[in-house]
Amino acid sequence: PAPDPDRVASIKEMSRNHVFTSWSAQGGLDQLPLAGGEGAHFWDFEGNRYLDLTSQLVNVNIGYQHPKLVAAIQQAAGELATIAPGFDSQSRADAARMISERAPEGMSKVFFTNSGAEAVENAIRLARLHTGRHKLLAAYRSYHGATHGAISLTGEARRLGSEPSIPGVVHFWGPYLYRSSFHATTEQEESERALEHLRQTVQFEGPDRIAAIILESVVGSNGILVPPPGYLEGVRALCDEHGIMLIADEVMAGFARTGQWFAIQNWDVRPDLITFAKGVNSGYIPLGGVVISDEIAETFTERPYPGGLTYSGHALACASAVASMQIMEDEGILEHVRDLGERVIGPGLQALTEHSVVGDVRGLGMFWALELVSDKETREPLGAAEMAKIGRACKDAGVWPLIMANRIHVVPPCVITEDEAKQAIEVIGNALAGLT
Ligand code: PLP
Repeated sequence: PAPDPDRVASIKEMSRNHVFTSWSAQGGLDQLPLAGGEGAHFWDFEGNRYLDLTSQLVNVNIGYQHPKLVAAIQQAAGELATIAPGFDSQSRADAARMISERAPEGMSKVFFTNSGAEAVENAIRLARLHTGRHKLLAAYRSYHGATHGAISLTGEARRLGSEPSIPGVVHFWGPYLYRSSFHATTEQEESERALEHLRQTVQFEGPDRIAAIILESVVGSNGILVPPPGYLEGVRALCDEHGIMLIADEVMAGFARTGQWFAIQNWDVRPDLITFAKGVNSGYIPLGGVVISDEIAETFTERPYPGGLTYSGHALACASAVASMQIMEDEGILEHVRDLGERVIGPGLQALTEHSVVGDVRGLGMFWALELVSDKETREPLGAAEMAKIGRACKDAGVWPLIMANRIHVVPPCVITEDEAKQAIEVIGNALAGLT
């Protein structure tokens, strides 16, 4: 499209005057208005086109403006655009069946929400009612959403702004070898010691009071932390020992991001509840939900579930989830993520450790982070000014990075091509080289 500076100025002015923006001081915001997108690219109104390494908020897994996904939404809107949960609907039935067929065995029911946070709220309600217990254990390095229960479970500092938290939440340290809370030097040590710490936490909190342990199968916003071998299996065993429900929060990690439908399928572990959102339909229409084990679902065969949402299983959202899963299958997107992750993105990012600021590289599929440090010995995090400089250099070269604290998260739309991925890695490399 032709550059349109008047439109840019007008969108910015109205936004600053009237839009109250997430997570931000409202004064002095400067955000780029977007005009369009296709595949792994988006563009602004001034003719600048960017290769996207963010997938917006790690949700546009299928890429921008996928024509079949747009068409499915248009078709559903033309039939019956909205249907209350008290009526059955074709798209809700299809979406629930398709999601449960892709989930681990013995998880045949789905409760739909509009967002990840609402999925987490309902997962904890399900776990508490099923067990008759109230305590919830969650990791410090976690993000679970911004409604009251979900932000209380969130371990990172964003929780602090919403305190006081809901009662009954206890935090623990999960595995993170690069900055081990357990003085571990190998993945095996980290896994064993993190499990022992969790075991002791459970013991001291009273195992028969704990309804659930919630964790991100792969920690997302807090640094793309892939659990070391044995960790998730150990958490599952601990939960089984004490009748505690295991909630896998897959809002960010689910639906192709790690090359599986659900990230937990990278390990041999079946959780009791899985929360999802984002990638289920790439956010073309807001949708989230909880996949529920048959044992938990059974609790509510006679007893009514005391929760609901006007838009639970919204017709357009569910139609877009059905189309999205079908597209991912038809286009081999899961296979593409595994292949490119293993062959191109992983090795390409690992090679960047030649730069003096790259302390750690970790991830899988299309879910990666580079952790940057000012000194590889002390592991002092790289400062905000340097991170901003890297961000600017990438954008100037047409690549839009996701900078989180001292990390670059590399989480592109899962349809990114091999050439595009190589281009992105080269641009990041040049930005790192440009620091010195
Ligand atoms: N859980 C995880 C793991 C997330 O990454 C997020 C969002 O980033 C959420 C929950 C909250 O999802 P939403 O922003 O859709 O409420």
